Amino acid sequence: MAIKRPEGTKDLLGAEAQFWARFRSTAFDLFARYGYTPIDVPMFEKTELFVRGIGEATDVVSKEMFTVVSGGNLAKLVAGEHVRSDSRFSLRPEGTAGVVRAVAQNGMLQEGGAPVKVSYAGPMFRAERPQNGRQRQFNQVGIECLGADDPSIDAEGIIMLMRFFESIGIPADKMTLLLNTLGDESCRPAYRDALKGFIVDNAADLCEDCQRRAETNPLRALDCKEEGCQRILADAPRIEDYLCDDCKAHYAQVKAYLDAAGVTYVEDSSLVRGLDYYTRTVFEVRVSVGMDNNQNAIGGGGRYDKLMAEIGGSDTPGFGFALGYERCKIALEAIGAEFPEPPAPALYIACVSSDQRALAFSLAQQCRDAGVACEFDHQSRSLKAQFKQADKLGCAHVAILGPDEVAAGVAKVRDMATHEERKVALEELPQALEK
Ligand SMILES: [Zn+2]
Ligand SMILES: [Zn+2]
Repeated sequence: MAIKRPEGTKDLLGAEAQFWARFRSTAFDLFARYGYTPIDVPMFEKTELFVRGIGEATDVVSKEMFTVVSGGNLAKLVAGEHVRSDSRFSLRPEGTAGVVRAVAQNGMLQEGGAPVKVSYAGPMFRAERPQNGRQRQFNQVGIECLGADDPSIDAEGIIMLMRFFESIGIPADKMTLLLNTLGDESCRPAYRDALKGFIVDNAADLCEDCQRRAETNPLRALDCKEEGCQRILADAPRIEDYLCDDCKAHYAQVKAYLDAAGVTYVEDSSLVRGLDYYTRTVFEVRVSVGMDNNQNAIGGGGRYDKLMAEIGGSDTPGFGFALGYERCKIALEAIGAEFPEPPAPALYIACVSSDQRALAFSLAQQCRDAGVACEFDHQSRSLKAQFKQADKLGCAHVAILGPDEVAAGVAKVRDMATHEERKVALEELPQALEK
């Protein structure tokens, strides 16, 4: 039997591969206007990086990572023997930890380098049950800004994200921007304790996950999808009542910048995002089309002022977001967006007989060198079949080379839409098509 691709993965073909390429270039072009330049880091890192950076108790790390051990250690692992932590690797489940590691390791913040603003695009991996909008390998585009804690970074990033979604065709009225703050190390512990107390007091009416979260990460209970839990937790203590003055001022300034830019948002005190590393600003963009409520987030992020120190770098504030390519595509399909096929070559060079093939080959090369996309017959087809192929490819023009044309130093160029033909000198072929 032919081998198929693994479940939860996708082959991007034709129009879709073309769209993914445009999606990335649109993002990089837009982000560059805000000072973000591309970075590319490994798709796998030491498992330790994700455990320390994202948090051992998160679903991402505890349940959803693809983890491998290098070479001969596999037998040891299967036998239940200890495998050294530096020979355990995981496919990246998200982009932030690896980028922050790279910024620290390469000393990018030294000598007045801050803030470092970088953007990335590529596949992420999660070992979870595949379903609509959730794959085991999926594509994300994201940015990270290291070395600045000013609320202008948060607001600028959020505005940039909303502009991106609009520029790929998701209308503003189909999106909701949710905004929250999670406080910092000086005010969050008291809130965490209060929330933990509330969960313990109401444990009997909460799901097992929420009861467990009271110990590991009480904030995560706030985004439990169980209806019963949501009802109870609506009365839970709220972060805004615990914020310190600095966090309050930071959050107010983020909102003031968004207001000034005319970006609308909904404050949602239950928004915690799944990862442990967030401090202060968190946000998420949800769409009202294409996906059900639990999976309609197309992008989000926040501030992570403790992450770099957590993974062994210097104490450096950070901010970032990631957005999901697949979910954006589902939303765009739901609103009837079109995904054009890759552009057709402008010109097809057809030969009457194999005598003209060498000339066709070199003419095609001249056209390409001059910037004209061009194709010719690679399979010794008949002239009729060459026209058929040109039509199938969608070429706007066909240049016909026969013995008479070659003798006269011209090609007969046919406009495939109007069927008009004209003679063009061979050396002028590329220029004639540019017009
Ligand atoms: Zn629950
Ligand atoms: Zn605070």
